[in-house]
Amino acid sequence: MINLVKGTHDVILDEAKKYEAVESVFRDLASLYGFKEFRTPILEHSELFQRSVGDSSDIVRKEMYTFLDKGERSLTLRPELTAGIMRSIVNNKLLALDEGPVKAFYLGPCFRYERPQAGRYRQFNQFGIEMVGINDIYRDVEVITFGYHALKVMGFENLTLKINTLGDKETREKYNRALKEYFSKHIDSMCGDCKERFNLNVLRILDCKIKEDQEIVKNAPKIQDYLSDNAKDRFERVLESLKELNIEYEVDQNLVRGLDYYSDVVFEFHYTSKKGVNYGAIGAGGHYSNLFRELGGNKDLEGCGVAFGIERIVSVLEDDGSLEKIKNSVNVYIMPSSDVTRSFASLLAKELRTNGASTDICYENKSMKSMLKKADKLSAIVGIILNDDLLKENKTIVKNLVTTEQEEVSTEHLLDRVFDILVSEIKKKEAEDHEHEEDCDCEECHHHHEE
Ligand code: AMP
Repeated sequence: MINLVKGTHDVILDEAKKYEAVESVFRDLASLYGFKEFRTPILEHSELFQRSVGDSSDIVRKEMYTFLDKGERSLTLRPELTAGIMRSIVNNKLLALDEGPVKAFYLGPCFRYERPQAGRYRQFNQFGIEMVGINDIYRDVEVITFGYHALKVMGFENLTLKINTLGDKETREKYNRALKEYFSKHIDSMCGDCKERFNLNVLRILDCKIKEDQEIVKNAPKIQDYLSDNAKDRFERVLESLKELNIEYEVDQNLVRGLDYYSDVVFEFHYTSKKGVNYGAIGAGGHYSNLFRELGGNKDLEGCGVAFGIERIVSVLEDDGSLEKIKNSVNVYIMPSSDVTRSFASLLAKELRTNGASTDICYENKSMKSMLKKADKLSAIVGIILNDDLLKENKTIVKNLVTTEQEEVSTEHLLDRVFDILVSEIKKKEAEDHEHEEDCDCEECHHHHEE
């Protein structure tokens, strides 16, 4: 028998369905936000990652699957996808005409030689988006909003969005000097990795996971005190905009991210499952300024992206028991009771789906009670009950499955009424989620109101 390669895993049978469920939430939402899919190669020239993810990052230093092919080229199995997307934007001259932004989404395997543990594999899947073009805080905000929205759709309730700014070039130069000065007094007692980081990129030390080192990191200078006016203003505007959108965040001044290409806003989505298992960040991203030029682009363009670990999301949702809901959920469930009403149901479903409402129909001959049970299982918001007598008078019964109120609606006004209910229930749910975070005493929500 030949075993799996360490750190890899099979996704088979019902397991694959879980992945598909999570992936399709991402894909559908990405299309809704106007992102287009990019499928770039798994194999890239090693230089691509050295120049983008950066020589001082743990990923490039220790974690890449790099080898020489038979033509003596140094190739690498991609450890992340942003670099490949940027390479492809440059190669295909997608931004040559100033027609920004390019809005890309991707989904596929990444490879990192890491120590395997819960939520950490050597081959894992990432979904992500990139928005590349001019520098505009609202683009960053849209990327964060997308991430937040996707996780909410999947049922993550007490989500923590940790956010920080790495400032602009001027900020980082000043801050690096301050960090060097501070850590030079402590570096002798710090771990071997930190010693290397001290020379390569001192900012990386803030990311050290070793307890004793973290104590030293706690008292290190804070980037907030070194921000240029520009960088400060930019960060404040991002935070302001998130507030307006009701997106809760927590500023974490030690958040630096492990990849060299970031500047200005960086962020991570954290979530602990209801059973208390913490899988680390389930998604993370940030703004980048030099990547386009670094990879051969001919102007200064900026970008922002976020990437999610599919394995981690599946594990958390599974722990929470919420995978079933995503796998099955629809907005509208149609419940016909005869062949005549079934054929009307097909037409109606087509209309609803064309207008963007996910819809399912019960085609089996079932009692009203069991159809309503199914609607509940699907987490449907609106139920449409069809029977012969009413349909003869061009009438249907529309049931708001959240409030359980039902009413007769003429077929002429049916679509409008269904969408009214959908919109108002989705809004109500959002407001409730928000309130929950304000009232709740649990640790995650507690952070939020301290902000
Ligand atoms: P990064 O590209 O390091 O910013 O990671 C983005 C996301 O990918 C993380 O938040 C994780 O959810 C996921 N991820 C990163 N490394 C791994 C890994 N070794 N195994 C599983 N998921 C990972």
